[in-house]
Amino acid sequence: MINVKMALHIKQIIRKVKGYAPEADFELIKKAFEFASEVHKDQKRASGEPFIQHALETAYILTGLKQDPTSITAALLHDVLETSKVDLEELKQKFGEEVAMLVDGVTKLSSIKYHDRQERDAESIRKMFLATTKDIRVLIIKLADKIHNMRTLSYLTEEQQKRISQATLDIYAPLAYRLGIASIKWELEDIAFKYLHPDMYAKFREKFGKKRLHREIEIRKLIKVVEKALKKANITAKVTGRPKHFYSIYKKMLEKKRTFEELYDLAGLRIITDTTQHCYEILGIIHSMWKPIPGEFDDYIAMPKANMYQSLHTAVIGPNGQPIEIQIRTEEMHTISEEGVAAHWDYKGVKIDDVFDKKVSWLRQILDWQRESKTTKEFMDFLKIDLFQDEIYVFTPKGKVICLPKGSTPIDFAYKIHSDIGDTCTGAIVNGRIVPLRYELKNGDIINITTAKNQTPKRDWLKIVKTTEAKTRIRHYLKETEELPISYRSVNKQEKKVVKGDIIEVEPSVKAPLIKLAKCCHPLPGDHITGFLTTQNHVVIHRKDCESANETTGRKRLEVKWKKDFNQETEVKIFATDRVGLFADVLNTIAATGTNIMHAKGKTITESLVEIDFIMIPENLDHLQDIIRRIQRLQNVSRIAIEVAEPGQHKDF
Ligand code: MN
Repeated sequence: MINVKMALHIKQIIRKVKGYAPEADFELIKKAFEFASEVHKDQKRASGEPFIQHALETAYILTGLKQDPTSITAALLHDVLETSKVDLEELKQKFGEEVAMLVDGVTKLSSIKYHDRQERDAESIRKMFLATTKDIRVLIIKLADKIHNMRTLSYLTEEQQKRISQATLDIYAPLAYRLGIASIKWELEDIAFKYLHPDMYAKFREKFGKKRLHREIEIRKLIKVVEKALKKANITAKVTGRPKHFYSIYKKMLEKKRTFEELYDLAGLRIITDTTQHCYEILGIIHSMWKPIPGEFDDYIAMPKANMYQSLHTAVIGPNGQPIEIQIRTEEMHTISEEGVAAHWDYKGVKIDDVFDKKVSWLRQILDWQRESKTTKEFMDFLKIDLFQDEIYVFTPKGKVICLPKGSTPIDFAYKIHSDIGDTCTGAIVNGRIVPLRYELKNGDIINITTAKNQTPKRDWLKIVKTTEAKTRIRHYLKETEELPISYRSVNKQEKKVVKGDIIEVEPSVKAPLIKLAKCCHPLPGDHITGFLTTQNHVVIHRKDCESANETTGRKRLEVKWKKDFNQETEVKIFATDRVGLFADVLNTIAATGTNIMHAKGKTITESLVEIDFIMIPENLDHLQDIIRRIQRLQNVSRIAIEVAEPGQHKDF
């Protein structure tokens, strides 16, 4: 392969730094470059390039984020401790305490060798966080280093490529997201995606290539229309098409079950203007020009995201009836969106802002706790959760991390584990001590729930629970028991929820099984599923990725699958936040597929949450999946569940 990329020169870095920090100590930067060049002079990268190129590239990426001269100096030196005999003292003498401290921080992130993949990743992240809480710049340098390593990943073996890419997706990209550095997040994700799913990546590229021209013409037309309208209103703004990232398309395909075409064809515009007031004015202009799609408007200016992201988001129906997604923000908001905390770093010495400080101190708390915990697996789980939210992280006795809103009680926790545990919970032991059910859970609590078979949800619980899941379950239970005073539980759970095996195939070793769909994960037709055999010869179907199912031990796992052809009364339950016309929309959507609805009814669960149930007989699995997919796309629909029963068994109707 011919490498056409020109080698980077230190002059280019100095020129960039001059652009935003003219009073920087350029002699020190040059000295760092010369020192590093000397140290690395006999070393080569896997690509065959002189090693110093890696240090230069890392520093150059940081100049793109306008990092302070100290960071740039440290970036040039970031590998000297690791790959040579240079020691920290020498660095301190030559480059000062601050630079040495940053280099040391970065070195610590990569210096430790581990036995297996998971542990090594978790361990290095732990180090990373420890370093980060001392100085956020260490983490930013590490991310820049990571980017260059990812850019040159093609020179490594396939095994290395896959392993490194997975770690990047699990750890570094989410870190970049939490720090609000979108530009780094996208690049890391797209490169990792290329190595983890090479076939899919190739297919995406091909499709991109085919459609690009058509798409660009369409977008250019839209941009012209918007520019004209803004000019007329005397507002200065830059209108651009929004780049689409492979990995984000891939993730949405999985999450929203949409096709590549649906996602790719969705046009995206970004409008960058000078003032916040103009953002709202532009929104008004856009909404008067094209019809806004209800429910698609988000005001992240008034309510910024936890990672400091600010922007207005809306979606409208464009001139040809096509949906267009639009983001509106100021120049400053845009910088923060692309660079996150990196943008907040004032190289003249004013450090990070208060909000960020608070988050960091919270992180430090977690780390203190973390040092005492037993396994690194827990910490891995931690990192996959968004740390910067109004949420708390607590633990099951087995060490599984459960995320709950602040103010949650043991009852919320119990319902989160499983609805049956919630229904029958009688008490809680937190960190080894008995606490009342109204106890407010705290970060790091280890919770053991006690249950009793004859316990049922209490009306009082509604006053103390925080999660909507718990509230909905309790209300639902109370409502049903009021309607059915004689033992709802036995009627409802043991008869109604049992379904015959006409929709799901179970391995033949199980004779005449009764099949139930699990209530924790609500498997839907087409989901990957797994079955568990209960002592009563029932088979409970969970989604393959259901956490509570995977926590279950001691039960026999069975191979199960959806039947392609079945012809049976099916009840579909739709949970949604209420809006005008919802019921009609649902019925129309189903009618549009040519399906005959046998019964339908709606009921209110809470003030805003409604449940719509209907019964029909689908032609086959594909048909049922199609209906479910169409309903999922309806605005405000939050969850869908199905039940299958023999005719006449739906007593509610
Ligand atoms: Mn490096």
